[in-house]
Amino acid sequence: MNLNPSALNEKPLSRREFISRMALGGGALVLISGCSHWVLPGPGSKQREKIYEYIAVDYTKCTGCRTCEAICSAFNNPISVDGRMVAGPGNPALSNIFVHSFNPDVSVPAVCARCTDTPCVNACPVDQDPTTGYRAIFQDTNYGTITNDPDRCISCGNCVDACREGSVGILAQHPETDRPMRMCTLCDGDLQCVSNCPYEALSLIRVIDDQPYYRMSPDKIAKKLSDRWYDLSA
Ligand code: SF4
Ligand code: SF4
Ligand code: SF4
Repeated sequence: MNLNPSALNEKPLSRREFISRMALGGGALVLISGCSHWVLPGPGSKQREKIYEYIAVDYTKCTGCRTCEAICSAFNNPISVDGRMVAGPGNPALSNIFVHSFNPDVSVPAVCARCTDTPCVNACPVDQDPTTGYRAIFQDTNYGTITNDPDRCISCGNCVDACREGSVGILAQHPETDRPMRMCTLCDGDLQCVSNCPYEALSLIRVIDDQPYYRMSPDKIAKKLSDRWYDLSA
C-alpha cells in the first residue's frame, strides 16, 4: 500500500512549523491517527529520517456533517442486496471514522490512532499463532493498521475495553458478531474521508517528531475546544 501523495503535504513539517500551523488554524488542528516510517527526506539524501504520518482534523472547519462516516462505510463496508453491490453512501453505523457530537456545539471526528503500544492487541487473550505471531487482532508493521482475524476471534470484547481505557476509544463490538469494528484501513492508501470531506477539515500530514496531541480522547478534545470557543463562566 502506498499512501496517496496528493493527500500529503509536500514536505514534512518540523515541530516549529507544526506549532505555527496550529496557531493559524485557531489552535484547533489535532491529530487523530498516526504511524511512523523511516524515509529518505529528499533526492540524493543518504540519512534516513523518522517521519510520522497523521490524519489531522481542523475543528474550525468540521461542521459535523458526517459525510466522512458515509463515505468510509461505502468504501470499507459496501452494502449488497441479493449479492449485488448498492452504489452510494454506506451505513454510517459501520464506518471506521465516528463523529462525536457535544453540547455546546463541538463535533469531534475520531479514528483509530494506530497506537505504537497497541493496547487492543496486548489485551487479546488468544494465543499467538506459531507461524505469524499474531493474536486474533494484530498490527501491520508498515502502516500501523489494526486487523481482526474473524476465524480466531472469540468476541470477548477485551480489545474494545483496552482501546477505551488506554487510547481514543474508537473500537466497538459489532452489533451482530461482537467482534471488534472501526479499525481504520487507510483505504488502500487513498484516504476516502480525507479526499471527500466537503469542508476540507481532514488532512493527511507528515510531521518530523512525535506530537503531544496524538491519541487524545474525543471527550478531552471537546473540553479543550469548548473552553476555547465558548465562555461557559458567564
Ligand atoms: S482513512 Fe479510510 S478507513 Fe480510515 S477513517 Fe478514513 S475513510 Fe475510514
Ligand atoms: S474480541 Fe477478538 S480480537 Fe478482541 S480481544 Fe477478544 S478475541 Fe481478541
Ligand atoms: S484500536 Fe484503539 S488501542 Fe488499538 S491501535 Fe487503534 S486506537 Fe490504539
